[in-house]
Amino acid sequence: MLKREFVLPSERCPICGSKNTFQVRGRIDNIPYFGETLETTVTCSNCKFKHADVMHLEEHEPMHHEFPIASEDDMMVRVVRSSTGTIKVPELGVTVKPCSASEGYVSNIEGVLDRIEKAIRLAIAQTGPVRRRRGEAKLKKLEDIRRGKGKATFIVMDPFGHSAIADKQAKKRRLTKKELAKLKAEL
Ligand SMILES: [Zn+2]
Repeated sequence: MLKREFVLPSERCPICGSKNTFQVRGRIDNIPYFGETLETTVTCSNCKFKHADVMHLEEHEPMHHEFPIASEDDMMVRVVRSSTGTIKVPELGVTVKPCSASEGYVSNIEGVLDRIEKAIRLAIAQTGPVRRRRGEAKLKKLEDIRRGKGKATFIVMDPFGHSAIADKQAKKRRLTKKELAKLKAEL
């Protein structure tokens, strides 16, 4: 449910230095089983810089969220992935780590699996035969998970608590010190 939208006055663009072309747009939503989120989009009409992010406004603790995917309906489960969030699907051997260009987004499990599929296809196109076979096996598994034929665990971890799986069936707990140290080393 949308609560509020705003546009911040334009300043000098931090990338190209141009004045009055830089804009910060924000919207605050209330997501069931999660709470208030702030989505931001930063754009510059001069250098075409664009960056989107999302963060949780209430939670600031390092959190680990886990959801067992067991059916096709689970594809609709809401996912909030901030630019500091790591997504892991152990059954696929896939970990999506944050990088400096990471964007945040609000999506659902299906949307995240689509992004993972694109990344696997891109990797397949740039690799040799052995890795290609491994990539194709991953794609087949991913398709089974999407159709609810293969079980999988969907994990979201965020050292700042800005990311989450917003569903009543999702399990959430604080990240352990060890997990936190590992994530921070990767940021
Ligand atoms: Zn600019």
